[in-house]
Amino acid sequence: MSSPLADFTARLLTRHGALVEHDRGEIVAVMPPPLATELGVAEYQRFAFDRRTAGPHALVVDYESPLVERFGRLVDTIGRIAGAPPPHVALKALDPEEVVTRAITLTNGVIRDCRVEAGCARYVGFMVRFELLADERISGMTEVWVNHTTRSVPRLEGLVTRLLSRREGTVDATAEPAACDDVRGIVAGAWATGAAVARRQVENRLLDAIASLRRRRERDFERLREYYQAIDEEIRRRARRALTKRDEAAVKAETSRLDATAHAFRGRVAELVDRYRVRVRLEPLATVVCTLPVHHITARIYRRSASRTIAVAWNAIDRALESPACDGCGAGVSTATLCDDRVHVLCSGCQGDCETCGRSYCKACHTRCPRQHR
Ligand SMILES: [Zn+2]
Ligand SMILES: [Zn+2]
Ligand SMILES: [Zn+2]
Repeated sequence: MSSPLADFTARLLTRHGALVEHDRGEIVAVMPPPLATELGVAEYQRFAFDRRTAGPHALVVDYESPLVERFGRLVDTIGRIAGAPPPHVALKALDPEEVVTRAITLTNGVIRDCRVEAGCARYVGFMVRFELLADERISGMTEVWVNHTTRSVPRLEGLVTRLLSRREGTVDATAEPAACDDVRGIVAGAWATGAAVARRQVENRLLDAIASLRRRRERDFERLREYYQAIDEEIRRRARRALTKRDEAAVKAETSRLDATAHAFRGRVAELVDRYRVRVRLEPLATVVCTLPVHHITARIYRRSASRTIAVAWNAIDRALESPACDGCGAGVSTATLCDDRVHVLCSGCQGDCETCGRSYCKACHTRCPRQHR
């Protein structure tokens, strides 16, 4: 059994022109001289992936090795987008009405006229590196998929590994000819939704970290407030004393001290808010484009007298109806609220209350509250 790192090393070297042979968990490679020089290894080189069993002539490779760092340069020369042939999965017949009403809940509308038609849809999967930047830094990887045809949001985590670990050599940019016409445009379009989905996923995964951050911010704020309040009270006491003595110069001095204290307090609060600000940075590292057999489902959604048709898909991999994308932010929604004017499908965050007037508005229709605020 070869380890994932051994498998990766063998594929990478082969891709760059080496002849590679597997030998009981180790690999032996004959490399073109430029490749060997680039990696700083011999042209005929044995690689071992387990320090305990490695022979004297083998170069031990683990995730800490400088060699893995150098692999990065080779990886950077390979494309970031791969096409994968569709996995063999069968579609069974389904009742669209039943599937739709089970998967989608509308808080203020009804769904009617569900129709189904078997077909294909193009999917784009992103491996995304995320980084939460706050007073501490948390990073990791997540996988998100977007149905580019219907723009609904499937749950296909793990499909990248499943597609890529099939027979070697099946994955390349030409494996899916249809994807080659405008693959860059497809990927860029899908990323608009993919980024929203990834952001939602990362925030859910980091709920605990974000909650703990908020607690620390509250605690620090409380300390700051107590500290400045004590100073403030002390100055006021002195000011009152000066007032009773009718010492105008002292009153003036204490008043300007009060102003300076308030100013300093505001400055420290601004610093605190900044220190605990949560920023999530997302970077798509690699993309897989794949066509899957699906049931295309259309349904008419009604809000008062207005209505609209939405399209979603049921795919044969996760065997579930995909959530429609929120018209405001692009994340998948299973419980949706419809907007009154244009029947937009909205998540709870995008049918939000205005912070100023407290009334709700549709974030797909308006970038900010449409009402006049005094
Ligand atoms: Zn939304
Ligand atoms: Zn408002
Ligand atoms: Zn709207």
